[in-house]
Amino acid sequence: MERDVCGRVMWRWPVQPAVSEEEIWSCSWCHAATHVGGEWFEVLRPPYLPVGMRWERAVADGLSVDVSHAYGIFDRTLCGIQVAGMSPSDYWWLPDRENACGACREAAGAIDDRWPQAMRGENMRVSVARRL
Ligand SMILES: [Zn+2]
Ligand SMILES: [Zn+2]
Repeated sequence: MERDVCGRVMWRWPVQPAVSEEEIWSCSWCHAATHVGGEWFEVLRPPYLPVGMRWERAVADGLSVDVSHAYGIFDRTLCGIQVAGMSPSDYWWLPDRENACGACREAAGAIDDRWPQAMRGENMRVSVARRL
């Protein structure tokens, strides 16, 4: 499952024993993800999403609530703040909000630019459903 979107090698998430049937591969460059296995799909490739629909707001004890950071990955905001126990909230991180973190906005913009234009169409990311 390498080089799925922008041509760079993807890395595999550590497998959690409880849900071991699904492997998740992520690209550390464009942040595309590809899921292999799982209950419903053999291969699941979530399509391109614009910045305002792509990130969840990060929540953690010790993270200021006055500034809205985007949740990146593994206890880390997009701008690089690491707090143990950080989790994504149920809300989108909206880059246009006044309280949105500037560094997160910059990082989100840079990541957005890395997703090739040609790969942004609705049908560019093909998923393979499991035959039930
Ligand atoms: Zn990529
Ligand atoms: Zn931030």
